[in-house]
Amino acid sequence: MKINKSFILWQLPLILIITSVSIFAYSLLSNRYRVEAIGQGNKQDVQAAKPKPKPQQNISFSVPTKFASSTLYQTELKKGEKYIALTFDDGPWGNTTDQILNILRKNNIKATFFMIGENVKTYPQQAKNVIADGNVIGNHTWHHWYRSMSPQLAASEIENTANIIYQTTGAKTSLFRPPGGILTNGVATYARNEKDAIVMWSDDSEDWRRPSTSTLVKRVVKQATPGGIILMHDGGGNRSNTVAALPQIINNLRQQGYKFVTIPQLLQIQNQEQVAITAKK
Ligand SMILES: [Zn+2]
Repeated sequence: MKINKSFILWQLPLILIITSVSIFAYSLLSNRYRVEAIGQGNKQDVQAAKPKPKPQQNISFSVPTKFASSTLYQTELKKGEKYIALTFDDGPWGNTTDQILNILRKNNIKATFFMIGENVKTYPQQAKNVIADGNVIGNHTWHHWYRSMSPQLAASEIENTANIIYQTTGAKTSLFRPPGGILTNGVATYARNEKDAIVMWSDDSEDWRRPSTSTLVKRVVKQATPGGIILMHDGGGNRSNTVAALPQIINNLRQQGYKFVTIPQLLQIQNQEQVAITAKK
């Protein structure tokens, strides 16, 4: 093919200019996309490093119908049966919740955690860990206020907490424990109207006063009864004494023949026994 003069003079430089502009533009664009792709890759890496959020589970911590709207301090079991429930309030909390979970896991025990809404917001992973280990969650309001509450304020304290527990862990709960055990400021009334079980306690560790480990162990063991509910705290302050005392409390009560159950299990046991007793008559 014969290349004519006008091609060399005009068309060839034009083609070269267009080609180089295209290459330059392409390199700019591809570099930008590459940066975006790296950004996305990093995001994915960060997500992969965290435990993947579980698919929305439909866990429901319900209570037998007869316990709906009731206030429970302990349960009455058949003679000779020694079930007892460990409960932990005011979490989830920094390291303490995980430390308590480790002790429970080592001992193959499930417990019940009454969580504060704003702490679930602060420590979502610890709330997830509680569920991942097969423990139970109860509602302990959003702010842990003792003040007198209008029905609207009581509703927001309980419902906002129920919502964040569900969004974080996939769990719904019919267990409620009023902050400070206060039954008269409006918040327990709202929970009762919602058919929650109001779960109090029979064995108060008073661990929030931070007694020595030995005092804590003695106090809990002394008050232990079959069908009882032990109150301890995984959150709300320094709980190192609670963490230190827990293995000794578990060992001591086990040596006495106690078996540890969650609140729904304890209520289920009592429910079945009472049904059985009624059926016998
Ligand atoms: Zn509390």
